[in-house]
Amino acid sequence: MKVGNFSSLQVLSYLEPRMNLSNSERNKRQNLYKGFDGEQAVYNRLIQQLPPSYHILTDLLLSHNTSEFQIDLLLIGENTIFPLEVKNYEGDFIIQNDNWYAVPSQNEIRNPLHQLKRMEILLRKLLKKGNFNFSIKPYILFIHPEFQLYQALPDFPFVFPTQINRFIRSFTSSPFQSNSHHNRLVTFFENQRLSRSAHERLPKYAYEKLKKGVVCQECSHFLEVLNKKYLVCHNCQSTEPLEIAIKRNIVEFITLFPNEKITTNVIHDWCNGIHSKRVIRRLLKLFLQPVGVNNHRYYVVKQ
Ligand SMILES: [Zn+2]
Repeated sequence: MKVGNFSSLQVLSYLEPRMNLSNSERNKRQNLYKGFDGEQAVYNRLIQQLPPSYHILTDLLLSHNTSEFQIDLLLIGENTIFPLEVKNYEGDFIIQNDNWYAVPSQNEIRNPLHQLKRMEILLRKLLKKGNFNFSIKPYILFIHPEFQLYQALPDFPFVFPTQINRFIRSFTSSPFQSNSHHNRLVTFFENQRLSRSAHERLPKYAYEKLKKGVVCQECSHFLEVLNKKYLVCHNCQSTEPLEIAIKRNIVEFITLFPNEKITTNVIHDWCNGIHSKRVIRRLLKLFLQPVGVNNHRYYVVKQ
């Protein structure tokens, strides 16, 4: 069972069917989802087209001293690493004196080059701390087909929608052998990776106030028992195998309440008593590691 990516997007997605989110929280979830979707699309293309010697890391939240920084996608090449920032901006923008404005509204947006520069500086310090001697070549990938930027210069580290194919192809022309040096760097980043940002602002939520049950993946209504092996959604009629649905619900619980003890009673309640405690206990034993005996038994994520 893979648990551990406690991103804001996940937490908000798990909360949405279970409580009333404010409009701004709902918008935030939508924006995060769009961003995630864009990164996923680029990741899929990279993984298909890049030579296997390239390592690709996604969604890296890192810090140097106490300064956090985030990298959407990180390619590890022979002697160079390529941090890629994916932007899903839509519409027309113009750069004037280092400031970015939407056209025609003239609303100023944050200059993504500043963010990129900051990330590069912090990343360089982090590499130095780990005694790695890779050079860093960052890029911003604009992926929306209806994005246009005026006054951009050719030497800006930008990849526009019409250039993405060529950009990806440029990596295939320089094959290399991946070695233990590259593997050590991957391990270094995985160890440095933060699971949750200190600056994350999530809605306040309490267990007692959340709706309990197993959420339908198709429509966000709550599932009910169809038979011994399947759950059903009476809103969209989709069905899901019991084990897969309960497993997902356990992951949601652990993500939302990482400090709570997992017991049969707790998960039985979290699933709104959808099946007997005996069934829940069987599934907990299947997916997690039991600790202790009888009435004192609880479960932890398998290492
Ligand atoms: Zn449904």
